[in-house]
Amino acid sequence: MFPLLRSIAIVLINAASVLGWYLMLSGAVWLVAYRWRRAQWSLSKIIQRHPSRGQILREIGFSILSCLIFGCGTLFLWWCGQKEWNQLHWDFHRHGLVWHLVCLALTFVLWDAWFYWTHRAMHSRLLFRLFHRTHHLSHNPTPFTAYSLDPLEALTYAVFLPLVCFIYPIHPSVIGAFMVTQFGVNLVIHSGFELFPRQFAESRFNWLLSSATSHVMHHRYGSGNYGFCFQYWDRLMGTCHPQYDAHLARNCQGNMIGSAISAEAESGMTEARHPVHSSV
Ligand SMILES: [Zn+2]
Ligand SMILES: [Zn+2]
Repeated sequence: MFPLLRSIAIVLINAASVLGWYLMLSGAVWLVAYRWRRAQWSLSKIIQRHPSRGQILREIGFSILSCLIFGCGTLFLWWCGQKEWNQLHWDFHRHGLVWHLVCLALTFVLWDAWFYWTHRAMHSRLLFRLFHRTHHLSHNPTPFTAYSLDPLEALTYAVFLPLVCFIYPIHPSVIGAFMVTQFGVNLVIHSGFELFPRQFAESRFNWLLSSATSHVMHHRYGSGNYGFCFQYWDRLMGTCHPQYDAHLARNCQGNMIGSAISAEAESGMTEARHPVHSSV
């Protein structure tokens, strides 16, 4: 096959498979949480109001574009591998299982740092409209908000794995495990429902790990809580929302999944007109 045709095929096949999984999993969460169990799980909804059909259609539209850009990232990764410029390798036994697990954990730590700092930069006045405006059109996130991104924001995330492959040896199975878990976290933090039990808010894990409440507050207020899987960057850098622990404690209190931000609390949340972090 001609190189150009093969490149187009790699982009399209990758984009279609990512989009297929994305629509299937996000759609399943949406059907269960927003339709079939809507009444039973209403107390676990972080923001009680449900999003409009227009918001969901817009999110799906931008997600299709994002998947095409993720496909271009895969092409770049594959192309560098073909040229042996990166450390992508197909021999699972070249390094032991321990390395693969360390590699997976390391990739998560690096991803969270990459996400925190690029996300925080995108909230600067210079970059917000170019990179991050579309994602923040959703003040009340849904399972489809995860990939609702401006093309430049999608590109920022698409280059992460190709860059990692330049740093240390990584097997495609680790990349696959990372992508599946990372998408699972993405789905949880955009689900609109708090999943953690009360014990989480009272434990030390609360300092370390992020939650759906954290990211919903980011969408609602438009600044603060910039992390992805972890909360520690926000806590160390002073960008954790001052009300976060209080909201999390309330949301985790003993309902079916958690408990919603109460009506009074929601009415007290002011949506940011300009979701920009001024210190960046
Ligand atoms: Zn943001
Ligand atoms: Zn988000």
